[in-house]
Amino acid sequence: MFIGGAWTGAADGRTRDIHNPSTNERIATAADGSARDAEKAIAFARSAFDSGPWPRMRAQERAAFLLKIADLIDTHAAELATTETRNNGKPLREARYDVADAANCFRYYAGLASKPLGQTFEVPDPAMQTMVVREPIGVCGQIIPWNYPLLMAAWKLAPGLAAGNCCILKPAEATPLTAVRLFELIAEAGLPAGAAQLLLGPGPEAGHALAASPLVDKIAFTGGTVTGRAIIAAATGNLKKITLELGGKSPCIVFADADQDIALEFAMFAAFAGQGEVCSAGSRLLVEKKIASRFLPRLAEATAKIAVGDGLDELTEMGPLITPQHMERVLGYIAAGKAEGAELLCGGHRLTEGALARGNFVAPTIFASTRPEMRIIREEIFGPVLSVQLFEDEADAIRIANDTPYGLAGGVFTGDGAKGLRVLRALRAGITWLNSYHPTFNEAPWGGYKQSGWGRELGTWGLDEYLETKQININLAPAKPGWFRSAGQPAASDS
Ligand code: NAD
Repeated sequence: MFIGGAWTGAADGRTRDIHNPSTNERIATAADGSARDAEKAIAFARSAFDSGPWPRMRAQERAAFLLKIADLIDTHAAELATTETRNNGKPLREARYDVADAANCFRYYAGLASKPLGQTFEVPDPAMQTMVVREPIGVCGQIIPWNYPLLMAAWKLAPGLAAGNCCILKPAEATPLTAVRLFELIAEAGLPAGAAQLLLGPGPEAGHALAASPLVDKIAFTGGTVTGRAIIAAATGNLKKITLELGGKSPCIVFADADQDIALEFAMFAAFAGQGEVCSAGSRLLVEKKIASRFLPRLAEATAKIAVGDGLDELTEMGPLITPQHMERVLGYIAAGKAEGAELLCGGHRLTEGALARGNFVAPTIFASTRPEMRIIREEIFGPVLSVQLFEDEADAIRIANDTPYGLAGGVFTGDGAKGLRVLRALRAGITWLNSYHPTFNEAPWGGYKQSGWGRELGTWGLDEYLETKQININLAPAKPGWFRSAGQPAASDS
């Protein structure tokens, strides 16, 4: 852990073995902190924020630090990508993309740090000059999941630091390795002690301590909806600011007038990129009924040929699930789909041939003939399981797409641009695509409607979530207000 500008183990000496999900071999041993370590990090962050240089520094100087971090990530990109693949399992080509995106996120917020944030305006009182300034919120606890370990760290740290906050990052238990490396680079960039700290440990201990502490001003959380609720409950003591990026059950909608080849590959990409361990995954495929009998067999045939394997193999297209426990959870959903009577089009089992037997590999799976109440339609599986729903027309597609407690993302495929825009506007979701699925931009807001979260990350919206808003009123012509008669007598003359 990186606490108070120094590397340290857990206060009670506890450690955790870190595994490669392709082989389940131990690849590292990490510190495993507790509430005691969280309290130490919080105390450092508190004093760094209340009296340290970081929040008081010119925005241009903070930006220079962020640019240095971005450059260091680029310099070590190959090594970071390999570490990400070894720890998370995702194919190298995805890890390389994440690393480049993480560097660009630091660069984007370095640029934004010094851009105009305040405002002046005229108020009815001509003597009053009123202005609005933006200031950092304070100590920010940032709790992230295991599916994009480095990228999520960048999405949290870059805007938090750009705004002048003192940040404590808490990665997921299973995937601390690229975060540790990132903090080595942050230390090399020379950030003042306490501006950015790395806390490792179990969510219910180290994470909970951040959420519950009266000395933490904000929690930014990405993870599951159940954990999101626990964080809200823990954070009520001092009414922390909270942003939440939670789960999804997002629709990918294919109309009969779409280019079928383009829609087919995007449907696969939406569901199986990142092994389906992606919050915005298109895990429900909505297909217009009249093309289903042609579209679905082709989709199943292509999906069955996805190259599943060790992410370090350049030919691998889909990697293993993060842990044996998570694999069992996903296999449990597959069993539930079968038991509830859905039709299995492909996959539906663990992969154990040869070297795959050592890892947490599940065949990319598609279920058709589903009913709306099935668990595979309603619940986030967070694995390579795609559930198909058929629709009659535009109105039916919109109704089915929105029939979920989540509202993170959605994609529409059609050759009719006006229809596409109508459907996107009708989706109750924060991130949408027409004739595409998944591209994410540092410039654009990321977040969900309904139970997919609170607030937005990325873009100017993401910086906003790390800033307080202060109005300043300056009286340019001071005069007695004349409100109280007792204060109305002129002061006795000294003469
Ligand atoms: P998780 O909720 O189990 O864990 C996320 C983080 O929260 C981890 O760091 C964990 O240690 C911590 N945590 C767990 N319990 C805690 C508690 N009581 N108090 C404080 N912190 C606690 O999620 P996960 O299994 O790591 O990730 C999968 C989930 O993340 C999925 O639901 C997925 O949809 C979601 N996700 C959302 C986005 C998004 O941007 N919306 C992005 C990635 C993942």
